[in-house]
Amino acid sequence: MTPEKFSPPKRILMGPGPSDVPPSVLEAMSQPLVGHLDPSFVEMMEEIKGMLRKTFLTENEMTFPVSGTGSAGMEFCFANLIEPGDEVVIGVNGVFGTRMTDVARRCGANVVTVEAEWGRIIEPEQIARAVEGGQPKIVALVHAETSTGALTPVEEISRIAHKAGALLLLDAVTSLGGCPVRVDEWGVDAVYSGTQKCLSCPPGLAPVSLSDRAMDVVKSRGVAVQSWYLDVNLLANYWGDGTRVYHHTAPISMGYGLHESLRLVLEEGLEGRWRRHEENHGKLREGLEGLGLGIASQVGHQLWQLNAVNVPEGVDEAAVRGGLLDNHGIEVGPGLGPLKGKVWRVGLMGHSCQTENVAQFLKALEQELGK
Ligand code: PLP
Repeated sequence: MTPEKFSPPKRILMGPGPSDVPPSVLEAMSQPLVGHLDPSFVEMMEEIKGMLRKTFLTENEMTFPVSGTGSAGMEFCFANLIEPGDEVVIGVNGVFGTRMTDVARRCGANVVTVEAEWGRIIEPEQIARAVEGGQPKIVALVHAETSTGALTPVEEISRIAHKAGALLLLDAVTSLGGCPVRVDEWGVDAVYSGTQKCLSCPPGLAPVSLSDRAMDVVKSRGVAVQSWYLDVNLLANYWGDGTRVYHHTAPISMGYGLHESLRLVLEEGLEGRWRRHEENHGKLREGLEGLGLGIASQVGHQLWQLNAVNVPEGVDEAAVRGGLLDNHGIEVGPGLGPLKGKVWRVGLMGHSCQTENVAQFLKALEQELGK
């Protein structure tokens, strides 16, 4: 028997991603296909590159969306910059720093980890100690650790990395579009993001940007990039300004969606969008305090777009999360690793970051906690 046509239930996506997608992005994605070398599509690719530069606050020529989710962006950056035996210093304060170490090791890197307790940030002094006396090629950081809700400041670490002769590689999967990400001002050499968090497009593309310094490192490689699919030299023949050369078939509808979601980001304005995230985080925090609940991540470095809410003693984390979904249609995320069972991860990302959603969530949580 052929299954019925799939009809998704109505949800409010307030977890660690994906976030709710605005109707105009869904509409854009349902438009008829054109070919991936069609002149109209090529023109749209140029607009995507331009809008991504504005969103990343960079002039980097090599700025485009890699096909695949945020993890493809992570692999893209490491695969292109690392040659076997290279020293790479990685800040690990949650799931995604841990994933970076795995990806970098698979590329043949000699990885030095700089660890912080989950929920805390990576401190500049820790990086300074790790690069001392070494020859790191890359210092890598997760800007917004989605697994814990901590935002690590970048500028000072970037200075330390460059002084040590290293490139700075930044994971901006959860930060881009929800709080400041200033690629050029902060001297970030390689950055990747994902479409499904604060950009509020479905998952499927990974915006990336490489500085000229990073591209010089790519060009001076002794061995070919080990990944054919993610080799920036090959991708540049399709995404660059010259004659478009087929590399792989671009995910056309995702391109339509990203184009529309970036348009919405820029129409709102970056500053206005950041303010909206900050304000709704403040409202959520206030409401949680009213319920006697706090946020687990380091005070002063708490993310606006992802709140790790402490589960009170004696409360079944999974049962409350299940109740929020079944009885209120609200999705929140569970804690991971050492935070499993201890926090709910409440996202206020992009289109999901709305005052009405905060109010609805607080009311639903109060009911599920039986307050
Ligand atoms: N980095 C961070 C900080 C993330 O939050 C995520 C996803 O949640 C990723 C990387 C991986 O992205 P994806 O799941 O889109 O592959």
